[in-house]
Amino acid sequence: MRTPLVAGNWKMNGSRESVAGLMQGITAGAGLEGMEMLVCPPFVYIPQVAAAIGEAPVALGGQDLYTEANGAFTGEISGAMLADVGCQYVIIGHSERRALLGESDGKIARKFLAAQENNLIPILCLGETLDERQADSTLQVIGSQFSAVVDVVGIEAFARAVVAYEPVWAIGTGETATPEQAQEVHAALRSMAAKRSAKIAADLRLLYGGSVKAANAAELFSMPDIDGGLIGGASLEANEFLAICRAATV
Ligand code: PEP
Repeated sequence: MRTPLVAGNWKMNGSRESVAGLMQGITAGAGLEGMEMLVCPPFVYIPQVAAAIGEAPVALGGQDLYTEANGAFTGEISGAMLADVGCQYVIIGHSERRALLGESDGKIARKFLAAQENNLIPILCLGETLDERQADSTLQVIGSQFSAVVDVVGIEAFARAVVAYEPVWAIGTGETATPEQAQEVHAALRSMAAKRSAKIAADLRLLYGGSVKAANAAELFSMPDIDGGLIGGASLEANEFLAICRAATV
């Protein structure tokens, strides 16, 4: 039985004031039965968010981490630091980092290992560009991004990991994959994982991300292999985020 997860990726947004308001709204609506709620603020606001969460049933995650534990890596944040300030999750391989910051599959695999070494649950993001979809190579691209990590970390590592399918053309564009398009990729991902371990594949949570909002969440989450969502823009508004969370409970 896979518990749906709805994760808010706040990206590089917020201020102390807006974070306080957003967390007040989210914690007021937390505690929904049958789903898990997660917020991933910018690094600098993590302690503020941890304090706002208090005992509320809201998990906390980072948006990235560095491959090494500590040392002369100016500007970087380690998994040990994220765990130290109360994170349980970390996003890895987001398409914005792949495209804008040149993150390779190899580096993403090393980040996955660094996350688990610090007891953080990695949320591994995968997704094809519009050109790749139009060239009919979606499943090939997803398969190669997925196996590049599994070949390094092993399928057993996915017993404590989440995978997010995020078509690049749907992120922040307002254009969402149809439930059928998303389901096709999720089913393919699960069968790729099942070729290595049927048990791990059956239990692996697969999130969809890409312009999810309250209006389309229920339809997406009703698909058999979609186990929740990774939410960008719509996670910055408490009522919208909570409505998406409620859609994961039905
Ligand atoms: C994301 O950045 O992970 C994302 C899915 O963004 P949005 O929901 O804004 O498309």
